[in-house]
Parts: sequence; C-alpha cells; structure tokens
Amino acid sequence: MVKETIRVYARVKPLGRQQQAGIYSVDDNEKSLSSLEIIVPRDLADGFVNNKRESYKFKFQKIFDQEAKQDVVFDSIAKPVAECVLAGYNGTIFAYGQTGSGKTFTITGGAERYSDRGIIPRTLSYIFDQLQKDSSKVYTTHVSYLEIYNECGYDLLDPRHEASGLEDLPKVTIMEDPDQNIHLKNLSLQQATNEEEALNLLFLGDTNRMIAETPMNQASTRSHCIFTIHISSKEPGSATVQHSKLHLVDLAGSERVAKTGVGGHLLTEAKYINLSLHYLEQVIIALAEKKRSHIPYRNSMMTSVLRDSLGGNCLTTMIATLSIDKRNIDESIATCRFAQRVALIKNEAVLNEEIDPRLMIVQLKKEIQELKDELALVTGKQRTSELSQEELLRLDELLETFLEDNDPDSTLDVGADMRKIKYCFIHVKQLMNHSKISDKKLLSQYIPEEKETNKQTGEELKKLKELLQQRDNEINILVNMLKKEKKKAQDALFQLNAASACSTVFEQSPSINLEESQSPSSCFSLKEAKDFSSSVHRLPFLSRKTGGKMSLGCQEAFEVFKQDHADSITIEDNKQLLKQKFAEAKCLGEKLNEVRIKINHLKGEITQRHVQRAALAVSSPSEELNTLDPVEEKLRTQIEEEKKSYKAMFNRVKGLKIEIEHLQLLIKKVKMKLQKDFEVWWSEETINLQQEKPEMVSSPNTMTVYPQFIKSSQHLSTNSFSDTTRVSPNEDPAGKNNSITSSNPTLKTRTPPSSSTSIPLTGDSQADADILAFIKARQNILQKKGLGNK
Ligand code: ADP
Ligand code: MG
Repeated sequence: MVKETIRVYARVKPLGRQQQAGIYSVDDNEKSLSSLEIIVPRDLADGFVNNKRESYKFKFQKIFDQEAKQDVVFDSIAKPVAECVLAGYNGTIFAYGQTGSGKTFTITGGAERYSDRGIIPRTLSYIFDQLQKDSSKVYTTHVSYLEIYNECGYDLLDPRHEASGLEDLPKVTIMEDPDQNIHLKNLSLQQATNEEEALNLLFLGDTNRMIAETPMNQASTRSHCIFTIHISSKEPGSATVQHSKLHLVDLAGSERVAKTGVGGHLLTEAKYINLSLHYLEQVIIALAEKKRSHIPYRNSMMTSVLRDSLGGNCLTTMIATLSIDKRNIDESIATCRFAQRVALIKNEAVLNEEIDPRLMIVQLKKEIQELKDELALVTGKQRTSELSQEELLRLDELLETFLEDNDPDSTLDVGADMRKIKYCFIHVKQLMNHSKISDKKLLSQYIPEEKETNKQTGEELKKLKELLQQRDNEINILVNMLKKEKKKAQDALFQLNAASACSTVFEQSPSINLEESQSPSSCFSLKEAKDFSSSVHRLPFLSRKTGGKMSLGCQEAFEVFKQDHADSITIEDNKQLLKQKFAEAKCLGEKLNEVRIKINHLKGEITQRHVQRAALAVSSPSEELNTLDPVEEKLRTQIEEEKKSYKAMFNRVKGLKIEIEHLQLLIKKVKMKLQKDFEVWWSEETINLQQEKPEMVSSPNTMTVYPQFIKSSQHLSTNSFSDTTRVSPNEDPAGKNNSITSSNPTLKTRTPPSSSTSIPLTGDSQADADILAFIKARQNILQKKGLGNK
C-alpha cells in the first residue's frame, strides 16, 4: 500500500503576443518543494483578491514555467504515475485551471507539432513500450474516453455513432454496487493492443468531442474529459490478475464570473462556470479536513467517477495550469489556492490484485490430478471418488462391531482413507439422528403407556373400592332389612296383643327398594346393589314356589338358619379376608401413586440438569461438560429403583385383584350352597308342620302364635343385629310395601286358648303353608337356642 498526498504541480502557459505579464516568481528547489510567488499590484481594486495583500506564495511539487516542454512535463509528472499503473496501482493525472490556461495542451497536446504531444499520447507510447519490453507478464490494455457535460456522461469512443452533437453520443450513467464501487454503464472499453490502436482511439474521441462542440455550448470549456487506460496483467501460470487504470483528466475551465463588467456587479448565482467543479472543490475541502466522515462524492458525476482518485485507492497528481497574464492573475491565484488544498489530500493506493476464477479452476484441477497420481503411486491403487460396494459393506460391518462393542478402549480403524472416514461419520450422524427421532417416539409412547398404567391402577383401585363399598352395603342392606323385619314383627305382635287378635299375613316384595334405603354417605352403586339383592336374597326355590314372592318370615328364617350353618363361618372368614385384601389393595394403590409422583419428580430434575448444563456449555465451554454427569447418573439409578418398586407393587395389586375375585366367587358359591340347604330344610319343615300340627289352625283363617315367639324374636334381633349402621332413618321401605295395617279388615283378634296368639290365615293355601312353616321354623330355632317354650 502506498500512502501519499496528491502531488500538485504547476504549469505556467507561455504568454501570448498581446498579453501583459503579471508579476510572479518561481523558486525552483530541486530538493524540496518549489514555490510560486504572485505579486498583485494595488491598483487592481476590483479584483477578486483582497487588494490589501500584494504577495501570494504557493508551494508545488514542481513548477513548470513558460518554456517547459511537453517531454519534460511528461517525464516529471506522468512517467512516475505510468510506472505505478504498470505495477498494478491506480493513477490519476488531472489538469485544473481556467479556460485557455493550457489544460488540453498539457493533457492531450497541441495539434501542430509532434513535439507538442501531451501526456495522453506520451503515456500511451510509454506504456506500450514498457509492455513490449516486459515479457514476464501477459498484459491486456483497454481505453475509454468519457466526456461529462452538464452532469451527463458521453462515450467519446463509441464507433457506431457519427456524432453531430454531444446528444448523439451514447449516454453514460453511473451504477453503484453494494460495495459502493462505481460502474459506468454504456462507457465502452476499447481494447488497444498497441500504441497505434490506442492513439487512433484517442483521435476518434477528440474528433467526436470537437464535432460535438458548437459555439453555443462551448463544450470544451465547460466539460470534463476523462481518458482512461485500463491495464490487466498476470504472470503466466499464475491465477493472480492485476488490474490498474490511469485516468488522464482534462477538467472544464475553473474560471469564476468574478468580473462581469456590468457595473462592477458580482453575479453570485453565476459565480461558478461549472457546478461540478464547485462540487469538486467541496470534495477537496471535505477531504482536506481531518475527521470528516462524509465526503460529498455523489453530488456530481465527475466527483463520482473520480472518487477513487480523490482520497481513495489511487496515486493522484494534479497539474495547475496558470495563465499568468495580468488579466488572469486573480484566477491564477484561485487555481493555486485550490491546488494547495488538494495537496493536503492523502490517498492510499493499493495493489489491485484478484484471483481469476477460471484460472483458479484450471489450476486446482491440475493440482488434484497431480495429488491423485501421487496417491496412486504411494498406495499402489488408483483411487476413485466413490467407494465400491464391497468397501461400503465392509465399513458397515466395522461400524456395527464398533458401536456394539461396550469396551471403552475399542477403536474404529478404517485406514488412512478420507472417503471411508467421511462415510463413517455420515453413517454415525444418520444413526444419531435416527435414534434421536426414535427416542422422541419412545418418549411419546412411554408417556401414554405410563398414563395407561396409572389409569389401569386407578381403575382397579376404583373397582376394588366399589366392591368393598358394595360388600359393606350388602351387609348393611341385610342388616337393615332384618331390622325392619324385626320391627314389623314387633309392631304386628304388639297390635296383635293389644287387640288380642289373630295373626296376620305379612308379605313383602323380596326386591327391597334399595334406592330409598341407600345411605347418603354411601357411594355404593345402586345397580350392583340390586343385582346383589336379587342374587342373594331371592331364594330361587322359594321364589318359584311363591310365584316370585318370598315371605319375609321365610327370609328371616333363612337368616337364622344361615347363622347356625357351618358354611356361614366360611363366608364370614372369607369376608374378613376380602376386607383385608381390599385394604391392602387400597394401600398399594396409594403407594403406587406416590412412586409415580416420585418418578415424575426425578425426571423433572434430570431435565433441569440438562438445561443447566446446556446453558453452561454455551456460556463457558469446557471439556468437563462433554463427560457424563454423575448427578444425572444418580438420578437415573434412583428412577430405575423406583420403577422396580412400582412394578413390584403393581404386580401385587394385580395378584390381589385375582385373589379378591376368587374370594368373591367363593363367597357366592358358599351362599348358593347355604340357600339350597335352607330351601331343603325349609320345605322339609313346611311339610312336617303341615303333617304334625294341623290342630294349631283353629279356623281356616286363623293360626296361633305363641307369646314366647315374640320375646324370642326381640331377643334374637338384639343379639344378632345390634351392630347395624348406615341405615337411612327416614325411610322405611318395608313399611311402605308391607300390607300390615291396624285397620286391616282381615285381621281378627282372638285370645289364644293356651297362651298363644291366633294368626289369621290368608286363605291362599301356599301362603298359609308358608306361614305355618315359618312358625314351625321359629319354634324349632328357638328350641335349638333354648329359648322356646317346650
Ligand atoms: P484550455 O484547455 O485550458 O482551455 P488550451 O490547452 O486549449 O487551454 O490552450 C489554449 C491555447 O494555448 C492553445 O492554442 C494552446 O495551443 C496554447 N498553449 C497552451 N499551453 C501552451 C504551452 N505550454 N506552449 C505552447 N502553447 C500553449
Ligand atoms: Mg481545453
């Protein structure tokens, strides 16, 4: 990178024959900067310059006085720049000065003599000369010629047009890429392989410019011309290409309308002949000021095009052309002032190198082939980019063995073959991704499964609870029933006693209204209770006999019979066992719930741990984080243990369920047997009663009830059912369904002949037989218990 301020030179145009020279002096210093002193006489009162001052001194890199020849100017100014351009840097030489000060003469040259050739032809000559001399590089040269007039760009080298005015030339527009690089659309780049071609192009451009100019538009004084030489170079075999360009700029006249001559009035609006020069000055001022962030390059096309030349990647040189006759002294001072500002601008020129992608590809291909050849030489095998089918299979096998091997020291050796190593990595990645997906699936499967298990346990628990409740209720119903039966019997007997009447028939539907007997605190299912009642209480045999109805007495007899039956102990034992099992199941259900909650909690802890470690890995990555987390391991072990106990308990609940079901079946079976036994006994007793005691019936409608029976009935009830609970007190289903009423017309009260109560019979032979059997059964039972009156 070359960091340099813009070099500023001054060239003084020879005085014309009728021109009066201004007073100036040139102090040419070979070693340092040259200085130009301009003396302004005091009588120039209406001048642009403050007339209080007389002497103006300006420093220049070099000052070319009137007699300086074109070749000297070229050698001093343009040659060094051309050399830099050949080395790959950008360069700009621009001429600045008022109209007629010799800008065009300096840049392009005079048309009269060969020796008057200006910088452009000389530079072209020099460059092609150098290119020819340098065989180490391959050069390509292009030229472009742009004229900017009234903010419009024109391509002076477009050969398709025969310009008759500037407007006929193709318009050039500015394009800016995202990197803020300027591109000129429609500006043709004409290749010039040699000096002659390049000079022809320059001539074409100058001709176009000349033709386009009319006395009306005075284009040459008001327009800027930029002749650019583009050079690309590269060393043979190298992919690096150097691009450089040299702008040779002939600016529009810099004169200001300071002297209008019209009454000495200063026309401020016409102060600047050329607005774009005003903007150029703005850019120069901005660049000269340190720490100025915004440089107004965009204000004009010229400053945009010369952006790189001003404060950018360019080695720039300015030539201030001065017309030093008396009349133009103030303009010359203005030019010098401008030059002083320009001299402050620092440019940073860099070598414009870039890689040619096409060349790069060719080079890389060549390198690959060379490496392949080398590899084949070393391995003794020609290697293709694809692995063979056998090689792939072998790799799969190796990978499988490696992945399944639990030994932490196991390694995967596929040899020094990048293709195989890459394949293995891809394979492992696929496996990882797959397992991630299946993990997710498993997790989503596991969660409902767990839910399912919980649901199952819950359902079982509910079922068992219900069963327990059912059993409780069954017992309650039975007790309640018997209690009511007892109460009814008492009431009946009390009535009988009071009225000294005969017995009455009490029949009741065997299907007790359970709905009404249900305790409010009980959550026992009604349907189940009904089912139970029909299966247990309805004695099939007797029900059949009584046409679906069984006498309450019969039922009570059954209850008493049941108590003494050996099987009832078995039933009781089983019931106790069942209760225990229910309790155990309930307890297990609760424990299962606890374990499940604990497992969920542990899982939550693991997730939290993951999140923490992930966050830690992001904030401060360390090796430690890649290893296994001992805390997580511990949590996982705990989960495993909890799962084990969960499973064990779950299995126990399952076992309990089977046990309970079995017990229930057993109870049912024993009950059935008991019923059958009772039925047999009951029918036997009925037959015996009918045969042995026909005399007890004193009339077809009456029978005798012994007073002891009443007592014993009370006694029995107290003994057997004192522990009854959970019976709705405000309901009396038996009472509702019972036919016993004090005003019963069939009820006849009669004093029994031998301290016995006479019970009126129904007239229905079956019912009467039942009543008789009931009384007989009572008596037998009471006798058995030693309560009866023998
Ligand atoms: P500009 O382009 O600045 O308006 P020109 O280059 O056209 O001025 O110069 C005006 C006239 O002065 C031309 O006729 C040109 O030949 C002549 N001239 C300018 N500089 C020199 C010089 N150094 N030696 C001889 N003649 C010159
Ligand atoms: Mg000119």
